[in-house]
Amino acid sequence: MSTASHSDSALRFERSAIHTDVVIVGAGPCGLFQVFELGLLGLKAQLVDSLKAPGGQCVELYPDKPIYDIPAIPVCSGQELTDRLLQQIKPFDAGLHLGQEVSVVERQVNGRFRVVTSAATVFDAGAIVIAGGVGSFQPRRLEVPGVDALEGSYVHYRVKDPRAFADQEVVILGGGDSALDWALALVEHASSVVLVHRRPEFRGAPASVAKLQALRDEHRADVLIGQVKEVTPQDGVLKSISVLCGYGVVRRVELNQLLVFFGLRPSLGPIANWGLEINKKQLSVDTEKFQTSVPGIYAVGDINSYPGKKKLILSGFHEAALAAFSIKEYLEPGKKVHLQYTTTSPLMHKRLGVTEQVAEGEERKIAGGR
Ligand SMILES: Cc1cc2nc3c(=O)[nH]c(=O)nc-3n(C[C@H](O)[C@H](O)[C@H](O)COP(=O)(O)OP(=O)(O)OC[C@H]3O[C@@H](n4cnc5c(N)ncnc54)[C@H](O)[C@@H]3O)c2cc1C
Repeated sequence: MSTASHSDSALRFERSAIHTDVVIVGAGPCGLFQVFELGLLGLKAQLVDSLKAPGGQCVELYPDKPIYDIPAIPVCSGQELTDRLLQQIKPFDAGLHLGQEVSVVERQVNGRFRVVTSAATVFDAGAIVIAGGVGSFQPRRLEVPGVDALEGSYVHYRVKDPRAFADQEVVILGGGDSALDWALALVEHASSVVLVHRRPEFRGAPASVAKLQALRDEHRADVLIGQVKEVTPQDGVLKSISVLCGYGVVRRVELNQLLVFFGLRPSLGPIANWGLEINKKQLSVDTEKFQTSVPGIYAVGDINSYPGKKKLILSGFHEAALAAFSIKEYLEPGKKVHLQYTTTSPLMHKRLGVTEQVAEGEERKIAGGR
């Protein structure tokens, strides 16, 4: 963990940073439930996830598979669990910043944290909860010599602006939804589109496969079954690739741009650089507060490690509840934090938005008033 230097432009930071009680790194089930537990205690949160949709592993890896061990929900899919959590946290109006990775965490001189994402979103937070699961999902790379030097200019693992591919000869690698969706979309802009997949069967939606087939029949797109073995730049400009097709035939394909969609793989990523104690790629925490080795930084869900840890969603929910109480004490030292039931507490009802106003005096009394 680094401490921000005095040379930081404090003024600029003040103007651009989103001020919040807590930044939650990761919008998987545990990060989402963390919003709820913090919200019940009157704490505001901002969620960040490197994926484009909330839900973590549940949505990325098994959206349609049934889960049977969520208390009081006999069965629900990964997507349904996520949708229910999103509904449950609605009253707390947490900011949701998707498609960006938390890359920097720094302690400020005033003890608060400066958190910066890959999209240059800056937060000024009192505490941090890392609910990063197995880490942030990173694109699987094309592994052929020389490809790294072309990344960003000619080789891409995500599309920021489809217009950049207008009138270009585009080759897309992969057989899942991302590869198919971009092939279908770029046909409208690019001068040519070739999809290369190692097998004749595609993993993407059948409707997309049918559309691709139709485009192929109309000679508006081409499909090659094979694997890229070589990229050939000339003076740093990508000109062609070699694809090993069936029966050992190598086809040379000319192109301007190469898009690679081989899926995502988890990696601890920048979390490993925040100076936190790590045990076998997991963050060590205590089981009272779920605090990491750095005061003010907590870890819940699959990313943490303690004796007896079980990587289950319900374990992460329990951890989120205890972490929230600890964060409340950390942010408001000396103030007693009372346990209140959502069934009977008027203050809980107010925070959940299920009753009209609670008299301010009563709120202070219930909250153990300052
Ligand atoms: C196939 C399968 C089936 C499963 N079935 C069950 C089951 O039946 N019951 C059960 O209890 N559990 C099940 N699990 C396990 C369960 O999915 C995990 O325990 C749960 O998803 C952990 O939740 P989490 O919020 O801790 O992490 P995750 O779901 O992994 O979410 C973490 C999120 O953090 C994000 N992230 C990480 N680092 C960063 C960063 N630096 N910046 C921004 N974002 C970041 C990631 O992109 C990710 O979205 C299953 C898992 C798999 C793979």
